[in-house]
Amino acid sequence: MLTGKKIKTKGYFSLKAKSNLIEQNFYINNPKRDEIIIKVKYCGLCQSDIKLINKNWHFAKFPFVPGHEIIGEVFKKGKNVKKFSLNERVGVGWFSKFCMKCKNCKDGNENMCQRYELTCVGRNGGFANFVKIDQSSVFKIPKKIKSSHAASLLCAGWTIFGALKNFNIKKGSTVGILGIGGLGHLGIKFGKKLGYKMVGITETKTKLKDIIKLGSNEAYHFNQFIKFKNKFDYLIITSHHNYDWKAVIKPMAYDSTLCFVSRPSKDLKLNVFDFMSKRIKITASPGSSKKNMVEMLKMSAKYNIYPNIQEFKIKEINLAIKRLIQNKIRYRAVMKVF
Ligand SMILES: [Zn+2]
Ligand SMILES: [Zn+2]
Repeated sequence: MLTGKKIKTKGYFSLKAKSNLIEQNFYINNPKRDEIIIKVKYCGLCQSDIKLINKNWHFAKFPFVPGHEIIGEVFKKGKNVKKFSLNERVGVGWFSKFCMKCKNCKDGNENMCQRYELTCVGRNGGFANFVKIDQSSVFKIPKKIKSSHAASLLCAGWTIFGALKNFNIKKGSTVGILGIGGLGHLGIKFGKKLGYKMVGITETKTKLKDIIKLGSNEAYHFNQFIKFKNKFDYLIITSHHNYDWKAVIKPMAYDSTLCFVSRPSKDLKLNVFDFMSKRIKITASPGSSKKNMVEMLKMSAKYNIYPNIQEFKIKEINLAIKRLIQNKIRYRAVMKVF
C-alpha cells in the first residue's frame, strides 16, 4: 500500500451531481504533523451524503468520496499525534478538523468552529479504504460498542444528542421528534434515557409500531400530530421535507423550542405572530461538541443504546443509497469497508 510518500487507496467517488458512485483508485499523501490516516472498517450512510451527492447543498465539491460516519484503525500518524496509538480503533463524524483556537473552540463549541473542515467536502470521506483526518476531530471508541454500531453514532448519534443536550430541556418535558430515520430513532433512545417524555412523529405509517418499540412514549402520524395543541415543550425536526410550518408550530406549548437538525430545501414560511404569542423559540443545532461526542459514546456503552442498522458491503453502496432515498432503510445503512 505504501508507495514512496503516498498511500494507494480505493474509494467510491461521486464524480458529478446525481450520479452513481464509481470505484476508483487514488493516492493519499503521508500525514502532516497533526494528521491521522485511518484504515476504514465501517462507514455509515447519512442523508447529508445524499444531499452532497445530489448537489442539494451548494458547498458540495466534485469529485469526492462521501461518507462521514467512519470507524477504523490508526494506520499512520503525524509526529504531533500522541493521544492515539497505531492500530487503535477510532471514529470520525461530519467534521474533519477543528481549529481549536477560535472562541467557539475554546468555549467547547467546536461544532461552531470558525475554521472547521468537513470530512467529505473538499476532501475524500469514508467510503474508501483509507481516510486522512486532523487529530482534533478523531475520537476514541469505547470497547463495548461494536464497530458497525459505532459508525452510526458518529454523525446521527452525535447530532441528535447535541440537540437533546444543549437547549436546557427539563427532565419530564415532552419532546417530539419529527422524522424517524437515522437521527430520529437514536433521538428516541437517547431522549428516553435523558428523562424526557418522547413522542415520535412520522409520515410513514408502518414506522408507528417501531417507534414504540424504540422506547417512545407515544407515536403519531404527521396528520394526527398537527391536531394537537400546546403539547410539545421541545420539537426536533430531523426531516428534510418542506412542511406547512404554521401547522407544525400549532402543537407547540407556551415557551417551547423548535429545533432543526436538518435543512428543508425551501425557506420557512412563517409569520412572526405564528410564534410570538406563545413565545416559541426557533433554533437549529449543527452537529455537536467534542464533549457531547464523548458523553454520547459513554452513554451508548453504559446503557446499551445502539442504532438499528442494516449492513451492506461497500460494493453495494449504490444499492444502499437507492434504498435510503426510497425510505427503505430501518434505520441506518452501514457499509463494511475493509
Ligand atoms: Zn451525517
Ligand atoms: Zn475553531
